[in-house]
Amino acid sequence: MTDKLDFMREELEAAKAEKRYINIRTMDSPADAWMVVDGEKVLNFCTNNYLGLANHPKIKAAAKAAVDEWGVGPGAVRTIAGTQRLHIECEERLAAFKQVDAALLVQSGFCANQAAIAPLVGRNRETGEQDVIFSDRLNHASIIDGARLSGAKIIVYEHCDAADLEAQIKEHLSNYRRGLVITDGVFSMDGDVAPLDELYEVAARYDVMTMVDDAHGEGVLGNGRGIVAHFGLEGKFDVEIGTLSKAFGVMGGVIAGKDVAVEYIRQKARPNLFSSALTPADTAACMAAVDYVERHPELVEKLWANAEYFKAGIQELGIDTGHTETPIVPVMLGDVKLAKAFSAKLFEYGVFAMALGFPTVPKGKARIRVMNTAAHTQEDLDKGLEIFEKVARELDVIQ
Ligand SMILES: *Cc1c(COP(=O)(O)O)cnc(C)c1O
Repeated sequence: MTDKLDFMREELEAAKAEKRYINIRTMDSPADAWMVVDGEKVLNFCTNNYLGLANHPKIKAAAKAAVDEWGVGPGAVRTIAGTQRLHIECEERLAAFKQVDAALLVQSGFCANQAAIAPLVGRNRETGEQDVIFSDRLNHASIIDGARLSGAKIIVYEHCDAADLEAQIKEHLSNYRRGLVITDGVFSMDGDVAPLDELYEVAARYDVMTMVDDAHGEGVLGNGRGIVAHFGLEGKFDVEIGTLSKAFGVMGGVIAGKDVAVEYIRQKARPNLFSSALTPADTAACMAAVDYVERHPELVEKLWANAEYFKAGIQELGIDTGHTETPIVPVMLGDVKLAKAFSAKLFEYGVFAMALGFPTVPKGKARIRVMNTAAHTQEDLDKGLEIFEKVARELDVIQ
């Protein structure tokens, strides 16, 4: 007997046979430096909870108070009856934090890219007129999907390469109605940073629109204000995408930037028109998290100090840490089977750190990706490094 879902069974079996199947672990505790994962208490280096805010008492209190005052759900999309005063306050707060004119809060960072790109560029079905997106080769999946959804032509430029961006603009821009450059701020697989100043300069010279997704930069770069502040380009980008789910520890996405761009996207973005608003608890927690980050620059300093310490420790073992410029530390192992065995052994010894292999990263560049946070203590880092060393010796990565 065959049935119409057999293709799924076959694909799942194939994925298991080829070790591509994703075994999803279950967390039995909140996100923190130590977590209970599949029932085991382990030292966590996997979450994007850079500043340790995901389980912070002040931010939890803000969420609880919002539930009491505003309820658990907005009951509508933003454009009908879902815009609560909380959302407006949070947007003003985010715009001030990012030092831009305005901000639109959406349901997630992923959603922000689905929301923002299509209104800016696309294809006119009647006239066939098309716009063009210039996209970094390693941009995040949500940017790629948002770009595809827009219907605009997508031209990929080489990773972090402003000269190639310029070459692509020169070759292609004149064939299209208008152009948009989109880049990730921090690339999460390697922890490298887009050369935002150079990309901006090229985009400005050709008068194309600019958009940067700062998901891994907020709370991390620019004293916590993100990659745009890091490069001193506040207010220059037409659109800045952000997430409240990483350093801010909550959930939600933001589309920030110039007044006219945010107003236009607010009117047109489909997730704003057709998907309900962020919950009061999330919204209040986001605001509390932004306040907290602003008032506690020492958290950002701790994050960087921890990351530097961890990176130096891995390098002292004689293991390559790639070309990271952020608290993301890739422990380069090369072979994907080795990386997976390494991650499994780490877990056995009480350290939770993810192996990444092809197709997430290029073939032969498999690694363990260590996400450092401000929540780790000196003791945690020493323990983590000790276990990394032990596993590296057992698996003959070092002698
Ligand atoms: C994580 C990430 C997102 C998704 O953010 P969520 O709030 O988790 O949906 C979007 N863009 C980039 C560049 C990211 O790294």
